[in-house]
Amino acid sequence: MKTLKLYGGEVVNPAGEKKGRLDILIEEGLVKAIGTDLGSADETIDVTGKTVFPGFIDLHCHLREPGQEYKEDIASGTRAAAKGGYTAVCCMPNTSPVMDNAAVLALVLEKARSASTKIYPVCAATRGLKGAELTEMGELAAMGCAAFSDDGRPISSGAMMLAAMQYADTFGKLIMAHEEDLDIKGAGVMNEGVNATILGLPGIPRAAEESMIARDLILAESYGLRLHIQHVSTRGGIALIREAKRRGVRVTCESAPHYFSADDGACMGYDANTKVNPPLRTPDDVEAVKQALLEGTIDAIATDHAPHHKDEKEIEFALAAFGISGFETAFSLAVTNLTRDKDKLAELFSVNPARILGKPGGVIKEGVPADLTVADMDAEYTLTEQSLVSKGKNTPFLGRKLRGVVTHTIVDGRLVYQGGSSCR
Ligand SMILES: [Zn+2]
Repeated sequence: MKTLKLYGGEVVNPAGEKKGRLDILIEEGLVKAIGTDLGSADETIDVTGKTVFPGFIDLHCHLREPGQEYKEDIASGTRAAAKGGYTAVCCMPNTSPVMDNAAVLALVLEKARSASTKIYPVCAATRGLKGAELTEMGELAAMGCAAFSDDGRPISSGAMMLAAMQYADTFGKLIMAHEEDLDIKGAGVMNEGVNATILGLPGIPRAAEESMIARDLILAESYGLRLHIQHVSTRGGIALIREAKRRGVRVTCESAPHYFSADDGACMGYDANTKVNPPLRTPDDVEAVKQALLEGTIDAIATDHAPHHKDEKEIEFALAAFGISGFETAFSLAVTNLTRDKDKLAELFSVNPARILGKPGGVIKEGVPADLTVADMDAEYTLTEQSLVSKGKNTPFLGRKLRGVVTHTIVDGRLVYQGGSSCR
């Protein structure tokens, strides 16, 4: 019964009752007490001047295992996640083979036992991500699948999307939707607009994303089903979601740090590290994403951590893979570019992701698992490739001066990351 005490920090806890300058005593992986004068503990961590958040939960990442371990694996990915302050991550099923069956899910769950963070696997909604046939959702849900998604690909058929939402709902699970009309997208590689024209690159129209958001909102509304929309990137998409929420549609959504930290002007040097899907949009979209995060139309910040090998990025823009490495910069980008409001950050990184998943977390109180993220809100650093723990060094934010640094990550009472070094 080893005990651990965090002392001197500011507890930020918008979903809980105890907050402010308080110590936290942890015993057997659970929060035992929150307060002052908690007595001695076997181990203590001085977090004076730092902020203690409920553990961050990432709704969207790619750990690449099984099958693409040269890009990332579960061990390296969750080490990077822990460094980013994450205590739990939802990994997407576009692995090789696809996580659309019990065998692959069992492998991921087995590897999760020795990972740095908790893993909530998101299994494929359709077999092979092909959009033609539903997966065995009941079996997968019973094994511990957190939600269903064909992320990386849309579910192009409206009828199949409806069937997936209905079937997932019978097991109390959510569909997370990658909204993209592949026909409208065509061969597009960056946002359609002036910059794509100047670069001579085929554009991805915003209509590719927005038309699918509109379709799925209508499906969710018509049948009273839940829907979670992934990586929202446009002002128009946000407006559709805002109106749907006002009408009481059961929709939640996420955006990623790059959608409020960079616009398609960043693509002007043909740097493939700016190539993401959906693409970086215009400065006006960046403003819309920020506003929607702050007002609550967008519920959560998810990383869409998508590590790739150098060889898949250091090539022609049009041929390069979509996606950037995101775990280790998400919090800093939010503090630097979005808000310093600590309650807001806790909501976007922890409270709302827990609520969307229906998982424990998002609150610091006696008796819950001790999943905690400690950050220094004022520390500054310049992002370098060498500092990244992820195998994926593909980020457009190298060389950027960022503010807000995670100093400790605690999962079930275990210190899994401490400023500069991994503990597991
Ligand atoms: Zn996606």
